[in-house]
Amino acid sequence: MATGARTESGNFVVDMVCDVCRVEGFEVEKNAQTGDSPNHFVDILASRKKGKKVQKVAFECWEGTSQVEGRQVEKFAARLKSLGIQSGIYVSPKGFGGNAEFMARKLGVELWDLAKLKERVENIKAPERHKVPGTLPVARAAASRLLAHGLANGAFLRLSSMPKLEFRPYFFANFQIDNQRRKLALGVLVFDGVDGRVCDAALFEGHMDDLPSTGFFVDCLEIEPSTGSMPKLPPELEMKNTVTVAPAGVTEDMIRSKTKETVSGHDDATVTGVQLLHIPIVTLEMLAAGKSYRKILQAATGKMIWDDTQKCSLCDQKSRAICEVCGGTVCTEHERTCSSCRKHLCTDCMVTKGIVNKIPLCPTCKNA
Ligand SMILES: [Zn+2]
Ligand SMILES: [Zn+2]
Ligand SMILES: [Zn+2]
Repeated sequence: MATGARTESGNFVVDMVCDVCRVEGFEVEKNAQTGDSPNHFVDILASRKKGKKVQKVAFECWEGTSQVEGRQVEKFAARLKSLGIQSGIYVSPKGFGGNAEFMARKLGVELWDLAKLKERVENIKAPERHKVPGTLPVARAAASRLLAHGLANGAFLRLSSMPKLEFRPYFFANFQIDNQRRKLALGVLVFDGVDGRVCDAALFEGHMDDLPSTGFFVDCLEIEPSTGSMPKLPPELEMKNTVTVAPAGVTEDMIRSKTKETVSGHDDATVTGVQLLHIPIVTLEMLAAGKSYRKILQAATGKMIWDDTQKCSLCDQKSRAICEVCGGTVCTEHERTCSSCRKHLCTDCMVTKGIVNKIPLCPTCKNA
């Protein structure tokens, strides 16, 4: 058990260092083997292309309870030399003792103690704060919507990995349609800022038949974007290491012409303004008896964009529960209940006992 706990805390330091590296454009490999010999391992190998050259930095992450001594720094430097890696960083949240600093200076190894590591991590957060305009906060209700949403026994679903939170850019383009100086309609189109797809639309005034509305995003306009810090997450959705900000792949000019294109055929369309908002999108992978499900939530106003659990696995009807034997979703028609343990079952997994009064049972209760 003690070993397990140590590994956990070690991983935590390794994960933090990896985050720092990724933000600075490095690709990272954990526990990387850098030679043929099995002891040619480094905790993290970060590499980044610089012109035609590849810059490589090796990290040693000390997870022990003591300070790192000069001797350890010396060994690390020797290992780097034999691996042909020029830059090495020794990370030790407990700090460095003895002549470690001296050795590090002499051998050209950089040392990161806890303060240094924290400073690096803060540096990652700072640019996100300043660079991401109009970031919407994650709604308090998001967690409950995501987890057991809409199923009688939704708690049977388990998270199979940490939820992913992405702040994704969306362009909100306001348009106006005129016909000979008369205003016919006023509305907004919402575009995915990464690939430029139309993902929602709404009319504020007038009438239009063929608007591509989904209702997933328009109500985000009613939320005040946060300016100060990265939005606080509800505790149920603690996702420290899985928050990313997707870079915009389309420009405002492209959005303006796409808006005109989308509402064309409607006399004169004018784009009256384009606003960029970063909307929190949470992706969950869930498991039920080996079947996996994905849910995607627009987490600013709590709109489910995608939910694999909402359709019956045996037909196209809306699902009501999860079969606790095979993990498939079931609708009212395909749902059965074990008359002994009351488990939810699908028609395929249910077995019966008795010839006349066929009693529905789960396989476990039938064999008991
Ligand atoms: Zn069904
Ligand atoms: Zn089943
Ligand atoms: Zn049963």
